[in-house]
Amino acid sequence: MRALYHFHGGIHPPSNKTQSTLLGIAPAPLPSRLIVPFHQHAGEAAKPLVHAGEKVLKGQLIGLPDGFISSAVHAPTSGTIAAIDMQPVAHPSGLPNLCATLIPDGKEEWIPLKVIDYHSLSPAELQQLLRMAGVVGLGGAAFPTDIKLRIGKQKINTLILNAAECEPYITCDDMLMRERAAEIVQGAEMLRFMVDAGEVLVGIEDNKPEAITAMQQAVTDSGMPFEVVSIPTIYPGGGAKQLIRVLTGLEVPSGKLPTDIGVQCFNVATTYSAYRALAHGEPLLSRIVTVTGNVRQARNYEVLIGTPINELVALSEVLPDSNSYIMGGPMMGLPLPTVHVPVIKATNCIIAASEKLFPPPPPALPCIRCTRCVEVCPAELQPQDLYWFAKARDFGKAQAFSLFDCIECGACSYVCPSHIPLVQYYRFAKSEIHAREKEKQTADSARERHEFHLHRIEREKQEKAEKLAAKERAAQAAKSGTTGSAAPNEATDIEVRRAHIRELAQSHVEHSKE
Ligand code: SF4
Ligand code: SF4
Repeated sequence: MRALYHFHGGIHPPSNKTQSTLLGIAPAPLPSRLIVPFHQHAGEAAKPLVHAGEKVLKGQLIGLPDGFISSAVHAPTSGTIAAIDMQPVAHPSGLPNLCATLIPDGKEEWIPLKVIDYHSLSPAELQQLLRMAGVVGLGGAAFPTDIKLRIGKQKINTLILNAAECEPYITCDDMLMRERAAEIVQGAEMLRFMVDAGEVLVGIEDNKPEAITAMQQAVTDSGMPFEVVSIPTIYPGGGAKQLIRVLTGLEVPSGKLPTDIGVQCFNVATTYSAYRALAHGEPLLSRIVTVTGNVRQARNYEVLIGTPINELVALSEVLPDSNSYIMGGPMMGLPLPTVHVPVIKATNCIIAASEKLFPPPPPALPCIRCTRCVEVCPAELQPQDLYWFAKARDFGKAQAFSLFDCIECGACSYVCPSHIPLVQYYRFAKSEIHAREKEKQTADSARERHEFHLHRIEREKQEKAEKLAAKERAAQAAKSGTTGSAAPNEATDIEVRRAHIRELAQSHVEHSKE
């Protein structure tokens, strides 16, 4: 049996997972319309390839990856594009984003699909196929999978399938493993092939015995030398750094990536999507979403990307005293500004909230320096100090105290006896730092452009002056009846005049700088 390790801190909130695992995954019916954002992954938005009025097929590319970190977007079903415009989306900023609205024709008419023998292609070609299939991390971050597979010269010793699913309420990965374990194992072998990993470990929290059994059986049936590891249930055991620590004993140093220590992690649903993309040629058009909380029947659904969340939650019959919705779990999830936003690739769970389920927190009190937050922080930070620095807008100090190592797990807020919304302060500090960095970058590039402009003016003046000098030289030569180069004394004179002209040009530039 594999030796397991501990990470610092962690908490045990009520899991609330059984409600949504009583029934199997149900396919969500075709909605009345699909709203597909062009930016639903980390990095640059995809570039629209379709226009209003155009007919599309299921799986047709409608958004082209635009930039190194970007991913493709596809039509989730066949139908007609009704609009390409700004629509509200599930994003912390609450700002609208460019979306394609697709009216389904009900035919579910596919593009021709190309099945791939992944052994016949190079890792680079497979990465490109995944990029064009729109495969991104489905654990919540939606980072393009092809980028995580580009490991350069780094050697990957261990490939980890992250199936911990540690956050309360969320059960989409659990149900996927129970029902589609064989496909996940095939996908793991494809990813292992692409990064040439030595070993493959599947980390599953021990509160999912059915998923553990299903995955173990699938590994045995496949004959692959993978190891399914049951790990202790503790939040946030599904954080990449925490899972790596538990399974391998290795620490990912601050500011480094798992690949720097020879490890790469993929979410189990991402692995399944990679399998569908390569073995069936299917782009990422749907995902499993847990609908739970204040509903009559919590359940997991296979949902087309772009399905309006109001239509999805209606399938589980939302109870009348619901007052809001959370996308994701109660610890790290995003309160939705409205239920009229679409499911995106990052949507793993929708929780209907009520006052009874999530009573409003009491007013925050002053920090009493009890250090409970320090005890539970999995990143071994000083959350109370980070809170002070963020509150005082001392962002330099916050960065010096490793603010960016905070994974925003919310464990510190959960235990704080003063009910301080600590994570909100960290998010605020991070976004301020990002905004300032962006401002500085904009100012730097404006300054560089200005300096280049001045340099060009100076160069043009010099060229003009040299042309003038050459003309004078030619005129002198014509006068004296010589056609060759200037006599030594004349040459010196011309050089002196040229230098004078250059000086004049330089002083003009200096003036214009002032
Ligand atoms: S848990 Fe709350 S009260 Fe205690 S030290 Fe941390 S921030 Fe302060
Ligand atoms: S939210 Fe950040 S500071 Fe708080 S416990 Fe999690 S990692 Fe630590």
